[in-house]
Amino acid sequence: MPSSPRDRIGEVYGKLTVVRASERRTKAGNAYWWCRCSCGAEREVPSDKLSLNKARRKPSVNACENCARELQIEGVYRKNDREEKLRRKEAIEARSRLEGQVPERWLKLPLTDAHARELGKKIFFRGTICLRGHLAPYRINGGCQACYGRTPSAADSP
Ligand SMILES: [Zn+2]
Ligand SMILES: [Zn+2]
Repeated sequence: MPSSPRDRIGEVYGKLTVVRASERRTKAGNAYWWCRCSCGAEREVPSDKLSLNKARRKPSVNACENCARELQIEGVYRKNDREEKLRRKEAIEARSRLEGQVPERWLKLPLTDAHARELGKKIFFRGTICLRGHLAPYRINGGCQACYGRTPSAADSP
């Protein structure tokens, strides 16, 4: 007889609260526990997953499958948001260094692709140099305007 598992009823892992033991065992003999998510759904979780992931300081399993998926999507949005904020900050810094070196109107363009989309504009200027060495505005979904011959690059001009 395997030793009876530690009683986990009432323990909380993220959105999950352990509500009752399950008959199920993992191949390694770990007990499963039924957990109720804060949304009301239940999920059967093996006890080895009902623990805190030390590196991430979060439970290994912390919600029912639906909520876990939503949390994951939110996490991706938050990450994209952080990256976009950083891109805009870098664009502002790059542009402030370019004042007087590039056409005035470039410095009034949206900062990034996402910023241009937000404003319903098609051209943006991050103050970055393209792979072919142009310093020029970019088009959303496109690329460097100088590469397309639509505008001279500031790097080309004397
Ligand atoms: Zn849920
Ligand atoms: Zn280019």
